[in-house]
Amino acid sequence: MKLRVGLGFDVHELEPGRPFFLGGMELPGAPKGAVGHSDADVLIHAICDALLGAANLRDIGFHFANTDSRWKGMDSKFFLKEVTRLLHEKGWRIENVDCTLCLEKPKVNPHIPAMKSVLAPLMDISEDDLSIKATTNEKLGYVGREEGVNAMAVCLIVRMP
Ligand code: MG
Repeated sequence: MKLRVGLGFDVHELEPGRPFFLGGMELPGAPKGAVGHSDADVLIHAICDALLGAANLRDIGFHFANTDSRWKGMDSKFFLKEVTRLLHEKGWRIENVDCTLCLEKPKVNPHIPAMKSVLAPLMDISEDDLSIKATTNEKLGYVGREEGVNAMAVCLIVRMP
């Protein structure tokens, strides 16, 4: 049995008056939303990079370039489903994913169960194998000034001989 770990990190700028897509859902009542070529879902992008990294399949920008008009405004759940398909094609199965979101506002803890129920099936894993955590940046730096949001993810993938 072959095991691999993967690491993903992503950042997006926040701007007032736009919808905030995070963890596969739109955060209700968010004062700002993330800016990006796709729907700018920073959590999904970090998870995609962790999975691609574990399977040594380059990164999300390689597969879904932010210069490609096909991905403009794209729902990032499509990327996660596609990345999972690429891993399965190479014989990998996802064992677990652990991630941390870093932002000041709004509080995301109440939405974590919903995020897990949306994202776990896209990766063909149980909700128990997906951990999502959230922290603030203690008002420091770009996250602290609410100029941006970032996310980190690690994963373990398994290939049977
Ligand atoms: Mg991104």
